[in-house]
Amino acid sequence: MVGEVRGMTSSAIVEKLDAMEKEEGSLPSLLQFYRELARIQARVGQELKKPDPGFSGEEILQRTNEGKPLVAGGEFRFDWPLLQRTSQDIANLFRKYANLFNNAPEEFDRLTEGVLTPDAVKAWYEGTPLSPADGISEALLRDLIHAAAKPFLANYSETLNASIDQGRWRRGYCPICGGNPDFSFLSRDNGARWLVCSRCDTEWLFQRLKCPYCSNTDQKTLSYYTGEEGPYRLYVCDNCKHYLKTIDLRNTKTEVLIPLERLFTLEIDAQARDYGYSPCE
Ligand SMILES: [Zn+2]
Ligand SMILES: [Zn+2]
Repeated sequence: MVGEVRGMTSSAIVEKLDAMEKEEGSLPSLLQFYRELARIQARVGQELKKPDPGFSGEEILQRTNEGKPLVAGGEFRFDWPLLQRTSQDIANLFRKYANLFNNAPEEFDRLTEGVLTPDAVKAWYEGTPLSPADGISEALLRDLIHAAAKPFLANYSETLNASIDQGRWRRGYCPICGGNPDFSFLSRDNGARWLVCSRCDTEWLFQRLKCPYCSNTDQKTLSYYTGEEGPYRLYVCDNCKHYLKTIDLRNTKTEVLIPLERLFTLEIDAQARDYGYSPCE
C-alpha cells in the first residue's frame, strides 16, 4: 500500500469491529451492518484473481501525465456472475438493515429480485444515468453497486497502486478508477494531505490548500474547521460548496482504518450540511 494507513482490507475492518464489540459489549446496528458487508467483500476479494494490468511503465507514465486513470471508463472488467452473486448477497443484507436507509420497504423487496445489469454497473462506473428498474430509486441502486463493486475495484487498486507516481498525479480524482475522494488524511510523518477514493479506497497525494472537487485555490474561499480536540478536520470550499472530512494522523495514537473513519465521523457530515455544504457524490 502507498501512504500511511495500512491494512485497509475488509478483513481488517471485520477484525477491528469484532474487537470493538468485545470491548464495548455490543455494536450499534450501523456497525453491525457494515461488518456484515465487510465480510461479504472480504470473501469476494479472496475469490478474485489478480487483474492483469497490461501496462508498460511508459504507458503508466503517459497516463499519469495526461491525467487518465489506469482503469478509465470502459476499461473496468469484472466477472459478471461473481458480481451478480455479490450484489444479490448485498441486496439481502440491505433488506435486513432496511431501517438504516431512507427508502421505502418495498424497494428492498424489488432490489433482491436480481435487478442489477452489467449496463447499470458500467453506467455507474462512468458516471452516467443508471436507468433503474421500476420501483427502485437510482440512489439505492447506486448504493448497491458501490458496495458490490468495491472488492473488484480494491483488487485493481492493490495491484496497480504501487505504480502510481505520487509526485506527478496530484489530481482531484482517483489515479486508479477515476472516482471522487470522500475522505482525506494528513500523514503522520510530514502532514502531507492524501485523498482517499470513495470507490476503491486508493490513497493519493494532493495539495494541502486546494479543493479536489473544483480545483479552487483561492485561499479566501477555502477553509477548515477543527473540533475542540481530536484529530478531525472539516475542509470546506465556498466556490463549489462541497466538503471533505479529514483525519490528522499526527494526532492519533492507535491504528486508523480509513473506511471505518467514514462511519465514525457521521456527526461531521451533519455539521457540514448544517453549514450549507454537501458531499461530492
Ligand atoms: Zn478509485
Ligand atoms: Zn470546490
